[in-house]
Amino acid sequence: MALNYLYFDNAATTAVDPLVVEAMLPYLSEQYGNASATHGPGRMARLAVETARKKIASILHCKPVQIVFTSGGTESANLVIRSMASCPRISHLITSRTEHLCVLQTASIVHESGIVSLDYVALNNDGTVNLMDLNHLLETAPTGTLVCLMHANNEMGAPLNMSLVTEICRRHGAMLFSDSVQTVGHYPFDLSQSSVDFISASAHKFHGPKGVGFLYVKDPSVLRAVTTGGGHESGLRAGTENVAGIVGMAKALELASKRYDADSKHVRLLKSAVREKVLSLGAVVNGCDDDAALYTVLSVGFPKNNITENLLLELDMAGVAASGGSACSAGKSGSHVMEAIGAAERINIRFSFSRNNTLEEVKKLGNILEDILVKIPA
Ligand code: PLP
Repeated sequence: MALNYLYFDNAATTAVDPLVVEAMLPYLSEQYGNASATHGPGRMARLAVETARKKIASILHCKPVQIVFTSGGTESANLVIRSMASCPRISHLITSRTEHLCVLQTASIVHESGIVSLDYVALNNDGTVNLMDLNHLLETAPTGTLVCLMHANNEMGAPLNMSLVTEICRRHGAMLFSDSVQTVGHYPFDLSQSSVDFISASAHKFHGPKGVGFLYVKDPSVLRAVTTGGGHESGLRAGTENVAGIVGMAKALELASKRYDADSKHVRLLKSAVREKVLSLGAVVNGCDDDAALYTVLSVGFPKNNITENLLLELDMAGVAASGGSACSAGKSGSHVMEAIGAAERINIRFSFSRNNTLEEVKKLGNILEDILVKIPA
């Protein structure tokens, strides 16, 4: 329980693991050297950054040089899309209407600037990408296409079959960027066996600190920096490295990778219990509702009425942190994802879980939901 709340908004962010805090602390206190400095303190900071890079690479089965540290998922998406759109080999983008705004807006901005054309792939009823349509779009696409499709959707958990999509892209000579912010740290990756060109990750989604993430780049020679300045990150991302954040991210990924099985089993149990409860209270599940769906996310829609209209607020007042959609679209009305799957007319709530949640919390949530939806007269 965080801040005396029943915290079910783990797709927005997770609690930093105490062991991650412990690993970071020296780099927030006595070991404050700049990793680009050549003196002793600088070299110690550099060693910490490169050790973290090696650790992350070994967990994902890739080479350290393929990991570019960034400030998180948003920057990583900007780096790939802006860099590739401005290079002569890419003239076309394909994405979907349910991508995170960091992909959707960036793709739209580079398209509007006139440097690339843009197509949106059709979706199936469960919010997954229609692979026949992807295949069709690629058949008619100009040479030099970058496909941007997320590994799992942050609002409704719809999964992408990455190996199938990489195969489709490879067959058509297209490059693939998969926003994997909701899956890195929750599923094992073996990038040595994958032909995906880019994946992005963000530490705060897997019990690491905020403001740090990375971009995996299969062939770093294709990428150009979009923030210019010093030659940090092999010239691919200028700016002093966030040493403590990077160390914390590597620790968080290490912890996650040792407990994928146990944590996913536990979280699936919690999700299934909440799913059962909300279905009994008249909700429907938004998007993919099978085992392939992101196990940390449950998006449900209630029919709109005078009780459900204030559900999120009522939950907040009862001490439950859930979400109406993505935290990153805060301030904007409605959800582009719910709109894209035709669910915008419902009252949609996203419950998202982590290893820190308990069955007891889930039971309390069930009682609170029942109090709001059944016992309180309209
Ligand atoms: N992509 C997805 C799928 C996300 O869920 C998020 C954050 O919610 C982001 C990208 C942005 O990541 P960050 O918060 O690290 O900028």
